[in-house]
This record gives sequence, C-alpha cells and structure tokens, in this order.
Amino acid sequence: MKGRIAEVFDSIQGEGLYLGEKQIFVRFYGCNLECRYCDTKLSSFMEYEPEELFNELKLYRDKYHSVSFTGGEPLLQKDFLREILKLTGKGNFKNYLETNGTLHKELKEVIDYIDIVAMDLKLPSSTGLSDMWEEHRLFLEIASQREVFVKTVICTYTKEEDFIRGLRLIREAAQEAILILQLNSNEDRAYLHDKLETFKDLCRRERVTCCAVEQIHKVIGVK
Ligand code: SF4
Repeated sequence: MKGRIAEVFDSIQGEGLYLGEKQIFVRFYGCNLECRYCDTKLSSFMEYEPEELFNELKLYRDKYHSVSFTGGEPLLQKDFLREILKLTGKGNFKNYLETNGTLHKELKEVIDYIDIVAMDLKLPSSTGLSDMWEEHRLFLEIASQREVFVKTVICTYTKEEDFIRGLRLIREAAQEAILILQLNSNEDRAYLHDKLETFKDLCRRERVTCCAVEQIHKVIGVK
C-alpha cells in the first residue's frame, strides 16, 4: 500500500496550542475541500510504503515533540495513515493529526493511534463552501476520545452567525476543547484585530475557552 506524500521535513509548529514545538511534518497530498483562503496548493507528491516513510522519520535525530500528519487532508488516505500511525506509535513518536475535521468515518478508523487532534472548524462564510456542521459535530464527538483542540480562521467576510453556530457546536460536542482563533494573514490586519475582539466576546458569552494565536511561521518566515 502506497501513500502520496507531498513533503517530509522538520520545523516548529506554527499555529495552535503547540505553537513553537519542534515537530517532524508529513504533508499528505490531496484535499477534499477548496477553501477560499487556502495557502497550501500542492502540485506534486512522492509515493511511500508505510515502512519506507517510517525509516525516513527515524533518520531525524533531534528531540521532537511529535510527528505532525498534515496536508492537504491526511484522512483522505486513511488506510495508509493508519499503517504509518501504528509504526510511529510503536516507535515512541507522539502522533499529532492536523485535519479539516470533515471525514468522521475515516477518523473513527484511526483514532486509536492518534495522541492529539488539531481540528479546523470550517465556517461557511470564511471558506466560501457549504456548511459542514453535521460532519464537524460527528468528527468532534470521535476526536473527543483523545486530546483535541479546534482552530478557525477569521476573515473579513466571516459572519458572526456562523461563528456563534460553531461555538455552540464545540460546546455541545467537545465541551473541553479550546478554540484557537487565527486571523487570515492575507487580509487587512487592523480591521481583523477589531473583529477579533468582538469574536472573543462571543466566546466568553457562549462559554467556549478561546485564544488568539498568530500563524507564527508566516510572521518569522519559516516553513
Ligand atoms: S482544508 Fe486546508 S488544505 Fe484543504 S483546501 Fe482548506 S485550507 Fe486548503
């Protein structure tokens, strides 16, 4: 069984609760969504057997917090993902999954092998796509078996009504999950900072713990 992998590299985690932690990144090729603000356009991949990829990961000699399985959307290749997660888990790596939070059936098949889930909340007014409330709800319920936190991108066009619906979904499906607010790095920062304050107030009102975290790899110019 071969996996399609766009790149393998080490760097620091650039966003979310584990910002600044050193990780090995395995970027899966392909995604099931086309978000309007996407900055991960992948055009090529290498094919790996799970053991081949594991052998490559073992060549990284520093002390790492975890292996980040990212994309694209890793769960699109759930059979390959499950096999590599088994190998890294047995090899004492911590498994960190970055996902768009929509493929809940696939998550169910790999959740036993994951330590941390970093899930995107895709608000329809931000992505320009149809809503995914039900997919997100089912996904969060499964992800709650592990450590999980949620990230969402705030854009100039993000609607408050979507945001409130997302907050209620988090509160119902994964009460303990922290929400990370990220500003769209390609838009007017001053306007977005004002909007962020409004959205933080909404989090307090809806009793969802949130924090605003910059996508630091873009600020300091690393991969
Ligand atoms: S889910 Fe992520 S990788 Fe896929 S289109 Fe959206 S932003 Fe891009």
